[in-house]
Amino acid sequence: MNQPGIVRTSTAELYDAYVMKNYNRAAITLVRGQGVLAWDDTGREYLDFTSGIAVSALGHCHPAWVAAIRHQAGELIHTSNVFRNPLQGELARRLVLQAGPGRVFFGNSGAEANEGLIKLARLHGLRKCGEEGKCIKIICAKMAFHGRTFGGMSATPQEKIQKGFRPLVPGFAFGELNNLASFAELVDEHTAAIFVETVQGEGGITPCTTEFLWGLRRLCDQHNLLLMLDEVQCGIGRTGNFFAFQHDGVRADAIGMAKGLGGGYPIAAVWAAEKHAELFTPGSHGSTFGGTPLACAAALAVLDVLERENLVAKVAANGAAWKTQLEQLVTEFPQQVKGVTGRGYMLGLVLHAEPPPYVAALRDAGLLAPAAGGNTIRLLPPLIATPADLHRATDLIRAALARKA
Ligand SMILES: *Cc1c(COP(=O)(O)O)cnc(C)c1O
Repeated sequence: MNQPGIVRTSTAELYDAYVMKNYNRAAITLVRGQGVLAWDDTGREYLDFTSGIAVSALGHCHPAWVAAIRHQAGELIHTSNVFRNPLQGELARRLVLQAGPGRVFFGNSGAEANEGLIKLARLHGLRKCGEEGKCIKIICAKMAFHGRTFGGMSATPQEKIQKGFRPLVPGFAFGELNNLASFAELVDEHTAAIFVETVQGEGGITPCTTEFLWGLRRLCDQHNLLLMLDEVQCGIGRTGNFFAFQHDGVRADAIGMAKGLGGGYPIAAVWAAEKHAELFTPGSHGSTFGGTPLACAAALAVLDVLERENLVAKVAANGAAWKTQLEQLVTEFPQQVKGVTGRGYMLGLVLHAEPPPYVAALRDAGLLAPAAGGNTIRLLPPLIATPADLHRATDLIRAALARKA
């Protein structure tokens, strides 16, 4: 296959010959994006409600975001964390304003944020039990997704993700999401933390209920456990609050965030309340690329636009109206659509059958949207999407369903 000298011209051929085959990739090549729209290499236009899987918060190429990156690229791109840079402290301050008193560590991906949380839980366990390796248990949820690193995978109890990679990191146990008793009965003297997505993303769009989150909070307080929330997908405005847990007024001990934070430039963050943040001492954790000036400039541009355009409140209002609109599809296509889950711009269209043919039908109709577990299609518009954009998506979904019926 990889014979030198053979000139390959098509992108598909290059992927076929040289790129690892670890993804089920859609058969289109995207070459350009603007706002809610993206174009493929044949010039075909799509309404992009994949948003790079909840990443492109401001849509494609938002002018303020592009300007911030262009400017910073000409100033200083990378320094190493052995030096301060002028943007990391400011970004940390802005995240603390949202999350509450505490401190922030920067990394590059959701999995890396979650590794930080898992390491924090180990240090908390050591502080709690006074002996290394004794209190390492972390209770997670069935159907969870926390990433593809060894820690993330070990917290993700799905055969398709863990298969072939055992032995995994020890110490993880799994309760039923929204079943407090199933978490409570897993707590023992070896437990250090409870770790859940506030809204499960990959597993199907499944939010934690208010009672469940508050129940976890009480459980953690009773047993001196860290309540750690994975807001990698549902955070940064996506559900109509800056963090999804803010809908319920609950307080976390530590939070992982990533996807939407940089608007498409890779950056992740771990926030921890002050008394837990101090568990990380010099030399105990790090990341070469974490919080570079360029990454922080991109993230600050995202936060500025969210504030200036009041986007989070708009996501809440527009998302609620859109959900009502989408719920009509259940009545119109009862054989195909079972329900609509989620909130804000993180909605799930729950189907009666496996999503892949529907994902393809939507793409043919001109709408990009990713599948999730539980026969769900995720609808993740950029946070800049207007009611007219959402309406257009509903029409495209209706057209695709009618064609498939
Ligand atoms: C995407 C995702 C991750 C992993 O993020 P990567 O950047 O792919 O490592 C972890 N947790 C949740 C909830 C996610 O949605």
